[in-house]
Amino acid sequence: MMGPAHSLSGAAAWLGVGAAAAAAGHTMPWPVLVVGALITAGAALAPDLDHKSATISRAFGPVSKALCEIVDKLSYAVYKATKGPGDPRRTGGHRTLTHTWLWAVLIGGAASVAAITGGRWAVLAILFVHLVLAVEGLLWRAARVSSDVLVWLLGATSAWILAGVLDQPGNGSSWLFEAPGQEYLWLGLPIVLGALVHDIGDALTVSGCPILWPIPLGRKRWYPLGPPKAMRFRAGSWVELKVLMPAFMILGGVGAAAALNVI
Ligand SMILES: [Zn+2]
Repeated sequence: MMGPAHSLSGAAAWLGVGAAAAAAGHTMPWPVLVVGALITAGAALAPDLDHKSATISRAFGPVSKALCEIVDKLSYAVYKATKGPGDPRRTGGHRTLTHTWLWAVLIGGAASVAAITGGRWAVLAILFVHLVLAVEGLLWRAARVSSDVLVWLLGATSAWILAGVLDQPGNGSSWLFEAPGQEYLWLGLPIVLGALVHDIGDALTVSGCPILWPIPLGRKRWYPLGPPKAMRFRAGSWVELKVLMPAFMILGGVGAAAALNVI
Protein backbone atom coordinates (compact mmCIF):
# COMPACT_ATOMS: atom_id res chain seq x y z
CA MET A 1 0.00 0.00 0.00
CA MET A 2 1.01 3.64 -0.39
CA GLY A 3 1.68 6.03 2.51
CA PRO A 4 -1.81 7.49 2.99
CA ALA A 5 -3.50 4.08 3.10
CA HIS A 6 -0.88 2.81 5.56
CA SER A 7 -1.42 5.82 7.85
CA LEU A 8 -5.19 5.66 7.70
CA SER A 9 -5.23 1.92 8.47
CA GLY A 10 -2.83 2.56 11.37
CA ALA A 11 -5.02 5.25 12.91
CA ALA A 12 -8.13 3.08 12.45
CA ALA A 13 -6.38 0.16 14.17
CA TRP A 14 -5.52 2.28 17.24
CA LEU A 15 -9.13 3.53 17.45
CA GLY A 16 -10.15 -0.15 17.35
CA VAL A 17 -7.73 -0.86 20.21
CA GLY A 18 -9.41 2.02 22.04
CA ALA A 19 -12.79 0.32 21.60
CA ALA A 20 -11.37 -2.99 22.89
CA ALA A 21 -9.71 -1.23 25.83
CA ALA A 22 -13.00 0.44 26.77
CA ALA A 23 -14.76 -2.95 26.64
CA ALA A 24 -12.03 -4.41 28.87
CA GLY A 25 -12.38 -1.66 31.48
CA HIS A 26 -9.24 0.34 30.57
CA THR A 27 -11.01 3.21 28.83
CA MET A 28 -8.49 5.55 27.22
CA PRO A 29 -8.64 9.18 28.27
CA TRP A 30 -9.31 11.13 25.02
CA PRO A 31 -5.70 12.41 24.72
CA VAL A 32 -4.44 8.78 24.66
CA LEU A 33 -6.96 7.95 21.94
CA VAL A 34 -5.97 10.95 19.83
CA VAL A 35 -2.19 10.86 20.38
CA GLY A 36 -2.12 7.05 20.01
CA ALA A 37 -4.02 7.27 16.70
CA LEU A 38 -1.52 9.87 15.42
CA ILE A 39 1.50 7.84 16.57
CA THR A 40 0.11 4.70 14.93
CA ALA A 41 -0.57 6.67 11.73
CA GLY A 42 3.09 7.75 11.74
CA ALA A 43 4.51 4.38 12.82
CA ALA A 44 2.61 2.74 9.97
CA LEU A 45 5.03 4.45 7.55
CA ALA A 46 8.18 3.43 9.43
CA PRO A 47 8.91 -0.04 7.94
CA ASP A 48 9.52 1.55 4.53
CA LEU A 49 12.70 3.14 5.90
CA ASP A 50 14.35 0.43 3.80
CA HIS A 51 13.28 2.15 0.55
CA LYS A 52 14.81 5.43 -0.54
CA SER A 53 11.75 6.89 -2.26
CA ALA A 54 9.40 6.13 0.68
CA THR A 55 7.82 9.00 2.63
CA ILE A 56 9.78 8.27 5.80
CA SER A 57 13.12 8.26 3.98
CA ARG A 58 12.42 11.76 2.65
CA ALA A 59 10.65 13.15 5.75
CA PHE A 60 13.68 14.23 7.81
CA GLY A 61 16.05 15.49 5.12
CA PRO A 62 19.65 14.19 5.14
CA VAL A 63 19.10 12.42 8.52
CA SER A 64 16.43 10.04 7.24
CA LYS A 65 18.25 9.64 3.93
CA ALA A 66 21.41 8.44 5.71
CA LEU A 67 19.38 6.23 8.06
CA CYS A 68 17.60 4.72 5.06
CA GLU A 69 20.89 3.72 3.47
CA ILE A 70 22.06 2.06 6.70
CA VAL A 71 18.75 0.23 7.17
CA ASP A 72 18.74 -0.98 3.55
CA LYS A 73 22.28 -2.36 3.87
CA LEU A 74 21.56 -3.94 7.26
CA SER A 75 18.34 -5.53 5.96
CA TYR A 76 20.11 -6.94 2.92
CA ALA A 77 22.93 -8.35 5.07
CA VAL A 78 20.45 -10.00 7.45
CA TYR A 79 18.52 -11.43 4.49
CA LYS A 80 21.62 -12.97 2.98
CA ALA A 81 22.82 -14.34 6.32
CA THR A 82 19.50 -15.98 7.25
CA LYS A 83 17.89 -17.02 3.96
CA GLY A 84 16.64 -20.58 3.72
CA PRO A 85 17.18 -22.92 0.77
CA GLY A 86 13.80 -21.93 -0.73
CA ASP A 87 14.22 -18.14 -0.44
CA PRO A 88 15.02 -16.38 -3.73
CA ARG A 89 18.14 -14.33 -4.41
CA ARG A 90 17.63 -10.58 -3.89
CA THR A 91 19.47 -7.41 -4.82
CA GLY A 92 18.34 -5.11 -1.98
CA GLY A 93 16.80 -5.08 1.48
CA HIS A 94 13.33 -3.66 0.72
CA ARG A 95 10.47 -5.53 2.43
CA THR A 96 12.69 -7.75 4.54
CA LEU A 97 13.98 -7.04 8.07
CA THR A 98 11.84 -3.96 8.80
CA HIS A 99 8.72 -5.78 7.60
CA THR A 100 8.73 -8.49 10.30
CA TRP A 101 6.93 -8.94 13.64
CA LEU A 102 10.29 -9.09 15.39
CA TRP A 103 11.31 -5.65 14.11
CA ALA A 104 7.91 -4.24 15.19
CA VAL A 105 8.37 -5.58 18.72
CA LEU A 106 11.99 -4.39 18.93
CA ILE A 107 11.33 -0.78 17.90
CA GLY A 108 8.19 -0.57 20.06
CA GLY A 109 10.12 -1.98 23.03
CA ALA A 110 12.97 0.45 22.43
CA ALA A 111 10.52 3.37 22.37
CA SER A 112 8.92 2.24 25.66
CA VAL A 113 12.30 1.90 27.35
CA ALA A 114 13.37 5.32 26.04
CA ALA A 115 10.11 6.88 27.24
CA ILE A 116 10.39 5.63 30.82
CA THR A 117 14.14 6.13 31.19
CA GLY A 118 14.75 9.21 29.05
CA GLY A 119 12.23 11.55 30.66
CA ARG A 120 10.44 14.43 29.00
CA TRP A 121 12.85 14.93 26.10
CA ALA A 122 12.62 11.30 25.05
CA VAL A 123 8.82 11.52 25.06
CA LEU A 124 8.96 14.73 23.03
CA ALA A 125 11.36 13.15 20.52
CA ILE A 126 9.12 10.10 20.04
CA LEU A 127 6.08 12.34 19.60
CA PHE A 128 7.91 14.67 17.19
CA VAL A 129 9.08 11.90 14.84
CA HIS A 130 5.68 10.24 14.70
CA LEU A 131 3.68 13.46 14.39
CA VAL A 132 5.79 14.57 11.42
CA LEU A 133 5.15 11.17 9.83
CA ALA A 134 1.43 11.37 10.66
CA VAL A 135 1.21 14.75 8.90
CA GLU A 136 3.06 13.31 5.89
CA GLY A 137 0.76 10.29 5.81
CA LEU A 138 -2.65 11.72 6.67
CA LEU A 139 -2.35 15.18 5.08
CA TRP A 140 -0.27 13.96 2.16
CA ARG A 141 -1.39 16.56 -0.37
CA ALA A 142 -0.86 19.48 2.00
CA ALA A 143 2.47 18.09 3.18
CA ARG A 144 3.72 17.63 -0.37
CA VAL A 145 3.23 21.26 -1.40
CA SER A 146 4.48 22.74 1.87
CA SER A 147 8.15 22.90 2.86
CA ASP A 148 9.78 20.25 5.06
CA VAL A 149 10.62 22.91 7.63
CA LEU A 150 6.95 23.85 8.03
CA VAL A 151 6.00 20.20 8.60
CA TRP A 152 8.80 19.87 11.18
CA LEU A 153 7.60 23.03 12.97
CA LEU A 154 4.07 21.65 13.01
CA GLY A 155 5.37 18.34 14.41
CA ALA A 156 7.47 20.06 17.08
CA THR A 157 4.74 22.43 18.29
CA SER A 158 2.09 19.73 18.37
CA ALA A 159 4.46 17.35 20.20
CA TRP A 160 5.02 20.06 22.83
CA ILE A 161 1.32 20.82 23.21
CA LEU A 162 0.20 17.17 23.27
CA ALA A 163 2.86 16.18 25.83
CA GLY A 164 1.56 19.02 28.01
CA VAL A 165 -2.00 17.70 27.68
CA LEU A 166 -1.00 14.08 28.45
CA ASP A 167 0.97 15.23 31.51
CA GLN A 168 -2.17 16.64 33.21
CA PRO A 169 -3.41 14.27 35.97
CA GLY A 170 -5.91 11.75 34.58
CA ASN A 171 -5.12 12.65 30.98
CA GLY A 172 -3.22 9.56 30.08
CA SER A 173 0.55 9.59 30.71
CA SER A 174 -0.10 6.69 33.10
CA TRP A 175 -2.79 4.94 31.04
CA LEU A 176 -2.69 1.10 31.33
CA PHE A 177 0.60 1.09 33.29
CA GLU A 178 -0.22 2.85 36.53
CA ALA A 179 2.74 2.19 38.85
CA PRO A 180 4.99 5.17 39.59
CA GLY A 181 7.87 5.38 37.11
CA GLN A 182 5.84 3.75 34.31
CA GLU A 183 4.52 6.96 32.78
CA TYR A 184 4.47 6.75 28.98
CA LEU A 185 5.33 3.03 28.98
CA TRP A 186 2.31 2.66 26.66
CA LEU A 187 3.97 4.76 23.95
CA GLY A 188 5.55 1.58 22.52
CA LEU A 189 2.11 0.01 21.85
CA PRO A 190 0.99 2.28 19.00
CA ILE A 191 4.48 1.92 17.51
CA VAL A 192 4.30 -1.91 17.46
CA LEU A 193 0.74 -1.74 16.15
CA GLY A 194 1.62 0.70 13.37
CA ALA A 195 4.45 -1.50 12.09
CA LEU A 196 2.27 -4.64 12.16
CA VAL A 197 -0.58 -2.88 10.35
CA HIS A 198 1.91 -1.75 7.70
CA ASP A 199 3.11 -5.35 7.26
CA ILE A 200 -0.44 -6.65 6.92
CA GLY A 201 -1.19 -3.92 4.37
CA ASP A 202 1.85 -4.93 2.33
CA ALA A 203 0.89 -8.61 2.63
CA LEU A 204 -2.34 -7.79 0.75
CA THR A 205 -0.39 -6.54 -2.25
CA VAL A 206 1.04 -8.56 -5.10
CA SER A 207 4.43 -9.33 -3.59
CA GLY A 208 3.35 -10.32 -0.04
CA CYS A 209 5.29 -9.61 3.18
CA PRO A 210 7.68 -11.86 5.19
CA ILE A 211 6.02 -10.99 8.53
CA LEU A 212 6.92 -14.26 10.28
CA TRP A 213 10.74 -14.10 9.91
CA PRO A 214 12.77 -15.72 11.46
CA ILE A 215 10.18 -18.49 11.88
CA PRO A 216 10.65 -20.82 8.86
CA LEU A 217 7.73 -21.96 6.68
CA GLY A 218 8.75 -24.99 4.64
CA ARG A 219 12.07 -24.27 2.92
CA LYS A 220 11.65 -20.51 3.29
CA ARG A 221 12.60 -18.34 6.23
CA TRP A 222 11.37 -15.18 4.43
CA TYR A 223 8.03 -16.59 3.28
CA PRO A 224 6.01 -13.77 1.64
CA LEU A 225 2.72 -14.06 3.56
CA GLY A 226 -0.48 -12.96 1.88
CA PRO A 227 -4.01 -14.03 0.89
CA PRO A 228 -4.66 -16.17 -2.23
CA LYS A 229 -3.38 -14.44 -5.40
CA ALA A 230 -6.88 -13.48 -6.61
CA MET A 231 -7.46 -11.37 -3.47
CA ARG A 232 -4.29 -9.31 -3.82
CA PHE A 233 -4.04 -5.88 -5.40
CA ARG A 234 -1.34 -3.56 -6.67
CA ALA A 235 -0.08 -0.76 -4.40
CA GLY A 236 -1.95 2.45 -5.29
CA SER A 237 -4.71 0.67 -7.23
CA TRP A 238 -8.40 1.63 -7.18
CA VAL A 239 -9.14 -1.02 -4.54
CA GLU A 240 -6.82 0.80 -2.18
CA LEU A 241 -8.13 4.29 -2.94
CA LYS A 242 -11.86 3.63 -3.43
CA VAL A 243 -12.56 0.66 -1.18
CA LEU A 244 -9.94 0.29 1.54
CA MET A 245 -9.35 3.94 2.45
CA PRO A 246 -13.06 4.80 2.90
CA ALA A 247 -13.46 1.55 4.86
CA PHE A 248 -10.60 2.54 7.20
CA MET A 249 -12.27 5.91 7.79
CA ILE A 250 -15.61 4.33 8.68
CA LEU A 251 -14.03 1.66 10.91
CA GLY A 252 -11.93 4.35 12.62
CA GLY A 253 -15.02 6.47 13.29
CA VAL A 254 -16.93 3.51 14.77
CA GLY A 255 -13.88 2.54 16.83
CA ALA A 256 -13.50 6.08 18.20
CA ALA A 257 -17.17 6.27 19.17
CA ALA A 258 -16.93 2.93 20.99
CA ALA A 259 -13.62 3.89 22.63
CA LEU A 260 -15.20 7.04 24.09
CA ASN A 261 -18.30 5.06 25.20
CA VAL A 262 -20.55 7.09 22.87
CA ILE A 263 -21.99 3.87 21.39
ZN1 LIG B 1 6.31 -1.61 3.17
